[in-house]
Amino acid sequence: MEYKPLSGREFPRYSAIKTFFRLPISEIKADFDVALFGAPFDGGTSYRPGARFAATKVREASSLGRGFHMTRALQVFEKLKVADIGDCPTVPISLSQTYSKIESFTSLLLKKKKRFIACGGDHSITLPILRALKKHHKTKMAFIHFDAHLDTYPAAWGCEFHHGSFARHAVEEGLVDPKKMIQIGIRGPLAAGEDLDFIKKHKIRVATVDEVRKTNLQDFLKSLPTFDETPTYLSFDVDCLDPAYAPGTGTPVIGGLTSYETQRILRALKVKNLVGGDLVEISPPYDHADITSLVGVDVMFEMLCMMSRY
Ligand code: MN
Ligand code: MN
Repeated sequence: MEYKPLSGREFPRYSAIKTFFRLPISEIKADFDVALFGAPFDGGTSYRPGARFAATKVREASSLGRGFHMTRALQVFEKLKVADIGDCPTVPISLSQTYSKIESFTSLLLKKKKRFIACGGDHSITLPILRALKKHHKTKMAFIHFDAHLDTYPAAWGCEFHHGSFARHAVEEGLVDPKKMIQIGIRGPLAAGEDLDFIKKHKIRVATVDEVRKTNLQDFLKSLPTFDETPTYLSFDVDCLDPAYAPGTGTPVIGGLTSYETQRILRALKVKNLVGGDLVEISPPYDHADITSLVGVDVMFEMLCMMSRY
């Protein structure tokens, strides 16, 4: 099987059935390296819903995605066999049933030795993915987390699991190693100063937008940690960007990163063993001119490039 995007000369980019990067649709058992899939669930959202529609929209926007990374001088679809495996089954009215489905879907991919990128969904979808990874690799993940929010918040409306608490559960369940964790793009306002207690307690490295902009970007990029052979996971909440660059999201916070800054950070991250990643919190109904979905396409592209480096 050829894992190449459909030719834009044979089928112009606005035509054909929409898959991620115009790649072939495959079954999990096929011989590709990296699976792209949708995780269409937004039942963990506390404010504006709509992330359930992201995978469809990002597939459409990715029609314009191309395979050669200019800065990295890399043709990613020659280096890696990448396939769209469709969407993970979800239950729109049950977070717990959706968690079981995401965890077993991810476990199946891991059993077949696949790397993957999930396109959510709200940020609650990350936790069952990390549970599957921890069970498979039997070690805590190194964890790169882009977000405006810490996502270490307490239960809401009596519910432990929602899109703002996944990072706390990931640490408390021992799925990720807080010493090998970085949160990038964080900014206030917070509900209260106590919101910072969790990251202080676990000594989690937090790169706020203030820190990114403190001197110049180059200095910040040099300060980024490197990620060794430890299985590493990257979760990209699109609200790390300023709403000017990513308006289509559920919980927008002003004063965020630009799309160019996130590109530079993604290119500078040295990750030896990126086993998986996700792109979450894109809410197409709040988007304009597909700005946010286009950011999402590029984030998936950068993650694929990271996966092909080693
Ligand atoms: Mn988040
Ligand atoms: Mn967020």
